[in-house]
Amino acid sequence: MNDFVLPAIPPATLAVQGSSSRFPIRRVFCVGRNYWWEAPVNGQRPARETPFFFMKPADTVVPAAGTIPFPPLTAEFCHEIELVVAIGKDGSDIASADALDHVWGYAAGLDLTRRDQQMLAKEYGRPWEGAKAFDASAPCGPLAPAADIGHPQQGGVWLRVNGVERQRTDLAELIWPVADIVSFISTSVTLRAGDLIFTGTPTGVGPLQPGDVVDAGIDGVGTLTMTVGPRAR
Ligand code: MN
Repeated sequence: MNDFVLPAIPPATLAVQGSSSRFPIRRVFCVGRNYWWEAPVNGQRPARETPFFFMKPADTVVPAAGTIPFPPLTAEFCHEIELVVAIGKDGSDIASADALDHVWGYAAGLDLTRRDQQMLAKEYGRPWEGAKAFDASAPCGPLAPAADIGHPQQGGVWLRVNGVERQRTDLAELIWPVADIVSFISTSVTLRAGDLIFTGTPTGVGPLQPGDVVDAGIDGVGTLTMTVGPRAR
């Protein structure tokens, strides 16, 4: 069928490590706070809160390489390094014990954020799209198939700006592990093959400036390097 009134839109895609085939992106889910940003108090952590997620359009995912645009309408353009989970099999109400069967692979990605807009959204109780869903807001490295690397439960999560480390944690520090996140989202919507899940970022988020060089990675999964472009307007 080619009966469209406009040219049909090709899917957004991600590169796959060790392959010329690409992963077609359906939707992008992003989990909020999923690492502890505060130190324990008297050695104790508070009870875990129910996870929450927001979304970005599929075509906000761009290769995490070369130059990424500095978006308009922000004075606080922030980096968030995150483990990205790629779903390969549909499912709803997936049990945590079965959840990793639905995961096709993993990547290192950035949940880029217009933090000033997010603060305003929080203050006025508005949606987060202005803060999170702008063009090229989800740079992502190539996917590593789970068939090749397994399902990483630990490994460094890190980000440097101009060679200076800004973020570092370990996958073992995820408040809600990947299996629980997949299970949780699948109770809210039917997860579909092609969906991506950004799993949250550790402490150390901060602003980027034009010309900054960002290099980041998830040990055992992948790395990325890119340069921040000039201010759009
Ligand atoms: Mn995030």
